[in-house]
Amino acid sequence: MTSQKYDVLLLGAGLANGLLALRLKQCQPNLQVLLVDDNTQAGGNHTWCFHEDDLNSQQHHWISPFVVHRWPGYEVRFPHLMRQLDLGYSCITSTRFNEVLHSELNEMLLLNQTVVCCMPDHVQLASGKILQARVIIDGRGYQPNSALQIAFQLFFGQEWTLSQPHQLKRPILMDATVEQKRSYHFVYTLPLSPTCLLIEDTYYTDDTLLVIEHARENIFNYANRQGWQLKILEREEHGILPITLTGDFDRFWQHRQPCVGMRAGLFHPTTGYSVSLAAFLADALTADCTFSPEMLPSQIYYFARLAWRHHCFFRMLNRMLFLSGNADQRWQVIQKFYRLPQEVIARFYAGKLTLADWVRILSGKPPVPVLTAIHAIFTLSSRRRAS
Ligand SMILES: Cc1cc2nc3c(=O)[nH]c(=O)nc-3n(C[C@H](O)[C@H](O)[C@H](O)COP(=O)(O)OP(=O)(O)OC[C@H]3O[C@@H](n4cnc5c(N)ncnc54)[C@H](O)[C@@H]3O)c2cc1C
Repeated sequence: MTSQKYDVLLLGAGLANGLLALRLKQCQPNLQVLLVDDNTQAGGNHTWCFHEDDLNSQQHHWISPFVVHRWPGYEVRFPHLMRQLDLGYSCITSTRFNEVLHSELNEMLLLNQTVVCCMPDHVQLASGKILQARVIIDGRGYQPNSALQIAFQLFFGQEWTLSQPHQLKRPILMDATVEQKRSYHFVYTLPLSPTCLLIEDTYYTDDTLLVIEHARENIFNYANRQGWQLKILEREEHGILPITLTGDFDRFWQHRQPCVGMRAGLFHPTTGYSVSLAAFLADALTADCTFSPEMLPSQIYYFARLAWRHHCFFRMLNRMLFLSGNADQRWQVIQKFYRLPQEVIARFYAGKLTLADWVRILSGKPPVPVLTAIHAIFTLSSRRRAS
């Protein structure tokens, strides 16, 4: 067994650790950092999107090498509402992510190496090699934890080349005019080029059951209805994202190796998206002029605790969405949300709602029975406890 010592060892070259490694390189260039992943490319198989207001202008600047597409806005479709929103939307592909990390990090990136054992000051790889570090940060993706009670956003996506241009100018973030069955069901479409679309069949649901064959069929039928002529299937992707209903933050963090990204619970509670929090955390950890690797674990902890507190209103909304009313009527809650002013919608996705926004979101005739909604806010069914 051989051993080598680093200042910071980042486990998992996914979104959160990839952004953190880049910012460490840019802001703390003298550090010895190593980013390890068991995959053959950094970032896995993803298309990560984010809203314009999710990031500040400095973050837009440093994240721009990763960004493959930018749209000036998007649209949503519901049974009683069609709306165009002039809120910018951007997309990072894992292919580009991998290319940028390779060119920026060079020998700081170690791929095709599985971490089999992780201790506070060293890890063991499947090859038997030991890597030592002053600080080890775990970014190996979401891990179920009984301290969080969650529901799910499930989706299956296909990237298609079409035989004719599709004419779609903007993403359709939610097309909920599709059949609703025991969940909030919508189709999400990104126009990646005039003849290429990413189409995702998506469900907000209580369980993790997604029949891939049904999703493929739904995408095919949906594309047909839109008049899109699918020609070549380029790629498929599949996601199970946690939607937090409630939880015990202290228990979640107990005995925890310093971690980032989904593993640290750093995702938007209502969408399961994590680009924005990953970028903010990377900045928060690297900007300090008194930086030392030993400070990272406590900085991460305080960042995550603050995020958890900020998200309490979102968790309450999630409980209203998932625990009140019939699952196949959930679209009404989202349709009502999309009638709000654009700036409230932007702040919602950015996780920066104001008190006035809270009032606005909750006011008006509720789309679910009031008593059930109130009950949902204060109660939780144990069957939704994540194991
Ligand atoms: C298909 C999909 C699409 C998504 N789309 C969006 C989106 O549009 N916008 C958004 O904000 N969020 C999106 N998300 C949610 C979330 O942002 C992503 O899951 C994001 O990748 C999470 O980042 P992470 O760094 O926590 O984990 P990941 O990016 O999943 O990275 C974890 C890494 O750890 C590696 N790893 C795991 N185990 C080991 C091991 N034992 N040894 C070595 N390496 C290991 C994996 O190979 C992986 O590269 C999406 C999620 C999925 C699954």
